Amino acid sequence: MLPPFDLSQPQSLADALQALAGKGDTRPLAGATNLVPDLRGKRETCRDFVSLDGVNELRYIKRDGDRVTLGARTTMADILDDSGIRTDAPALYAAAEIFAGRMVRTAATIGGNVCCGSPSADTVPALLTVDAEVTLSSVSGQRTVALDEFYIDYKKSVLRSDELLTSVSWNVPPQNSANLFYKLARRKGDAITVTGVAVMIAAEDGVCTRARIALGSVAPTVFRASAAEDLLAGKALDEAIIEQAARAAADQCAPIDDIRASADYRLQTAFSLTRRLLTQAWKQVS
Ligand SMILES: Cc1cc2nc3c(=O)[nH]c(=O)nc-3n(C[C@H](O)[C@H](O)[C@H](O)COP(=O)(O)OP(=O)(O)OC[C@H]3O[C@@H](n4cnc5c(N)ncnc54)[C@H](O)[C@@H]3O)c2cc1C
Repeated sequence: MLPPFDLSQPQSLADALQALAGKGDTRPLAGATNLVPDLRGKRETCRDFVSLDGVNELRYIKRDGDRVTLGARTTMADILDDSGIRTDAPALYAAAEIFAGRMVRTAATIGGNVCCGSPSADTVPALLTVDAEVTLSSVSGQRTVALDEFYIDYKKSVLRSDELLTSVSWNVPPQNSANLFYKLARRKGDAITVTGVAVMIAAEDGVCTRARIALGSVAPTVFRASAAEDLLAGKALDEAIIEQAARAAADQCAPIDDIRASADYRLQTAFSLTRRLLTQAWKQVS
């Protein structure tokens, strides 16, 4: 059963920000696909929420030249319905495709997925590979933070209690690039990720010009495997370099045992999936 809670329903962003201002114990509620199970399961102690359901100005997908911006209330279904995301962020599209089931995809928002801070949040590895930035807004103004610097620890981020994440944006990947995501889970739909890997490889004249590797569910937060990325940039990739990079990515993991998988299995799959995706990506661009 749901515990009793207060819910305000602002109809504009300004009113939503006002409702959060100066109240440390009030939280935004978007699609509620995390919050309602957490309230039912007594993992959520907050009892005062600001619904974003009526804040329609946060639900959009915009393009300005090479820059793509998603309003925080954009849902997984919106991402799949948009004609351009498949090319503007192929890994994000792939993450949305395998996200939950249809019912959850129509409610779950990008803002909620990023802000829940779960290491298994599927859109986050994909967004990290396109160097996404998030805009955080409050009554006193707004700031832009690289997604790579957003998370501090397990379910902890730099978001203040009076702030809303209002948008996520990134530049479309370069011409000759491959951007892939793979979710390993106990089954294909409606399952929490055991190991999630996203990669972006760009190449010019047979040389890797940009490498991004991000992993989910194998550490307290989703993270970029920066040591592995550094091994690839500026090189013509081959099996040995890719293997070395995949090993470096696995070395950066700090997984736990849980009911879905052992830490050891997560480590092994972080290595093998990174190697597989890098191999596939390099084939596409070389
Ligand atoms: C059956 C089921 C299947 C699922 N499958 C997946 C899956 O495959 N992959 C996956 O990654 N997740 C999955 N989830 C988890 C969940 O659906 C996602 O994390 C979803 O994106 C959360 O978005 P929401 O809009 O529902 O967030 P909410 O539940 O409304 O909020 C989540 C958190 O984010 C905060 N928040 C929300 N929006 C904002 C904002 N704009 N600014 C600041 N804070 C904000 C809230 O205060 C809360 O702390 C699943 C959940 C269920 C119930």
